[in-house]
Amino acid sequence: MDDDQIRLAAFDWLKEQVQIHGEVLPWTMLTNGFIFNNQRIHLVGQSGIWKPQVMQLPLSIRTAFEGPYPDKLNKNGLIEYRYRGTNPNNWDNVGLYHVMEKKLPLIYFFGLLPGQYYVAFPTFITHADPLKLIFTVQVDEIEALDSKMMVEDPNTMLFRRAYATTIAKIRIHQQGFRLRVLIAYRNQCTLCRLKHPELLDAAHIIGDNAEFGDPIVQNGLSLCKIHHAAFDKNIIGINPDYHIQVRNDILEETDGPMLKYGLQALDKQKIILPNHHKNYPDRERLEQRFDRFLRAS
Ligand SMILES: [Zn+2]
Repeated sequence: MDDDQIRLAAFDWLKEQVQIHGEVLPWTMLTNGFIFNNQRIHLVGQSGIWKPQVMQLPLSIRTAFEGPYPDKLNKNGLIEYRYRGTNPNNWDNVGLYHVMEKKLPLIYFFGLLPGQYYVAFPTFITHADPLKLIFTVQVDEIEALDSKMMVEDPNTMLFRRAYATTIAKIRIHQQGFRLRVLIAYRNQCTLCRLKHPELLDAAHIIGDNAEFGDPIVQNGLSLCKIHHAAFDKNIIGINPDYHIQVRNDILEETDGPMLKYGLQALDKQKIILPNHHKNYPDRERLEQRFDRFLRAS
């Protein structure tokens, strides 16, 4: 089978999965992979540098979950990927080196939690350092693949890749935060108990651009889409004793069930808290945020 065909089929399949499930996919889905010409193509395997049996060169690289603050994302516009082991001539490392030389697109799986991977593709190996045992990875836009036959202005490409890589790194951090918060709240809305992760966000108590706006569970709340918006717009406040307050003018309105049950009925109720005390929303952050709510009332 033709490596390029499998590679493109893998991108098409992933594109579809990301549209359906979002950019975080479970290990089982990736290891099951897809069928191409009656052959099953697994997208991940034992080795981090992964080459399906029917291919000549690696198709994906994977970073296992190592903790909430991965340091390999530090370099601006670039991602670092470690060689396998300490021998640069190891088969996997040589395969990845060839991928770089041939400028072939790869899939990058980044472990956000055990068994949960952020998917970035296409990605390219742009540099190899056999002394430090580090490959440099950049993300590109999927649309750029379709036009790869076109002669590209190298500056345009560099700029686009630096931008796409920066965006991917921001998304990795955001998705990691979201997963940690949703798990702490047992995948339900803190206010209304709705248990559909596809309708849930991890809201920041203190916004991520502000001081104390850290992406930690104690600064997060698992909120459904409508309650996230209501919290952001100061229609709903949460006081430092974990009780909900609905803005006065909203309480005085008369309207249908969404207003009545979705907003007004929450007034003075206690929020749903995580199982572990260490994951409870930070009272000082709540207080700071609640002051803002009171000023908006
Ligand atoms: Zn809700």
